Amino acid sequence: MGNPVLVIGGGVAGLSAARSLQLAGRRVAIIDPLPSPGGASFGNGGFISPDSFMPGAQPGMLRKLPGWLRDPMGPLAIDPRYILRALPWFFLWLRAGRLTHMTALAHSLYALHAPALTEWKRLLGPDLYGRFIREEGEVILGDTPPSGSAADLERHLIAQFGLEVDALSSADIRRLYPQISNVVKFGVLKKGNAHTVSPAGINSALADMILADGGQFHRESVLKLIPENGQWLILTSTANHRACDVVVAAGVWSAQLLAPLGIKIPLESQRGYHVMIKNSGLEIGLPFIHRGRGIGFTPMLDGLRVAGTVEFSGIDGMPNERRADQAMFHARQLFPALTQSPHSIWTGQRPSTPDSLPVIGGVANQPGLWLCFGHGTHGMTAAPPSGRLIAELLVGERTFIDPTPYSPSRFK
Ligand SMILES: Cc1cc2nc3c(=O)[nH]c(=O)nc-3n(C[C@H](O)[C@H](O)[C@H](O)COP(=O)(O)OP(=O)(O)OC[C@H]3O[C@@H](n4cnc5c(N)ncnc54)[C@H](O)[C@@H]3O)c2cc1C
Repeated sequence: MGNPVLVIGGGVAGLSAARSLQLAGRRVAIIDPLPSPGGASFGNGGFISPDSFMPGAQPGMLRKLPGWLRDPMGPLAIDPRYILRALPWFFLWLRAGRLTHMTALAHSLYALHAPALTEWKRLLGPDLYGRFIREEGEVILGDTPPSGSAADLERHLIAQFGLEVDALSSADIRRLYPQISNVVKFGVLKKGNAHTVSPAGINSALADMILADGGQFHRESVLKLIPENGQWLILTSTANHRACDVVVAAGVWSAQLLAPLGIKIPLESQRGYHVMIKNSGLEIGLPFIHRGRGIGFTPMLDGLRVAGTVEFSGIDGMPNERRADQAMFHARQLFPALTQSPHSIWTGQRPSTPDSLPVIGGVANQPGLWLCFGHGTHGMTAAPPSGRLIAELLVGERTFIDPTPYSPSRFK
């Protein structure tokens, strides 16, 4: 079995990598100061969307940006004090959003997302899968149908990939959501998508399986990775660990762990929020995302979750609880009958690359250093396939998909 592989980060990316490594016969130890899942994996919207493939950056966004920023209830906010620091990332993001780049990115996202449900089942086994995942499809709503070159590309690729997407009539929408406002006029059902009824629960279940199969958890914070005599010395808040193989899966914090080694990965925090509403009184036939408002509604075990919004304020920026109010504002606009107040609010940081592809693979000239992070808005979808990919690369097996598009070397 050899030395354990050290996995830094116990969110969905680290847990998926660790469980896949176990299934490939390797021992694992996870280092994280928080109990799993402590980061974005705890409170996300729970959508698991194998049929999703559109990158975040799209043509025409630059035109929409000033309007979004002026609107205090808009889907995007940037802390003015942070704009200069984020500029290099935004430059790469705009470049990725050109139509010529988008098609290739969409294909690479789809290759990674399509096996999401199969990979969750492989990691969890059928019983836990059935307890936490609902294969009911996902609805996309809007006040108007999407238009423009990105929407055309999306329609073209849906046909090319052969995805089951049904247009919803106004009557269909009102059957699914009897109390929804009349402003919502457009809807589609993506039949291949699914959701989890508890992001925290499904990830904790994964952590328990890893533990039960002999995995270790060190409740420590990694301070530095030091190459030492062909191994890695991991200096943490309270201990030293040595390993031949280390997987960095520390979400939005990954890039700062790598910077002292001279490894530069453009990774930004896109902060998001959720509100939880117990006994909302709303009939939500299927979980949905409202595109224009940038929020999703997911019925969960402990209430209705309304999650979304994007805020750029840096990893160390203070949360702005008014963004959670913004989610509530949109919830009430969509459902005027909603009178309940949220019983809790939460914030987390999406680890986001400019091209929307995660970073999966080994680092050139740094033997034993493996990266698995940058899943942005799609970690619950893409992390299990990413975990399998990094495990196969690490043990030297033939990989189930082509790893090239996700390689860290693309940022050289
Ligand atoms: C509001 C919101 C809604 C979302 N909705 C969805 C959705 O519906 N569907 C979907 O697929 N995705 C969604 N996402 C995205 C998804 O949650 C993330 O992509 C995913 O959780 C990232 O997982 P991760 O393991 O990379 O990072 P995280 O979950 O953030 O985990 C990183 C872990 O690394 C640990 N760590 C950090 N630094 C160190 C260190 N120095 N030493 C040791 N450990 C360290 C942290 O404590 C943390 O536990 C959403 C995100 C947000 C914020």
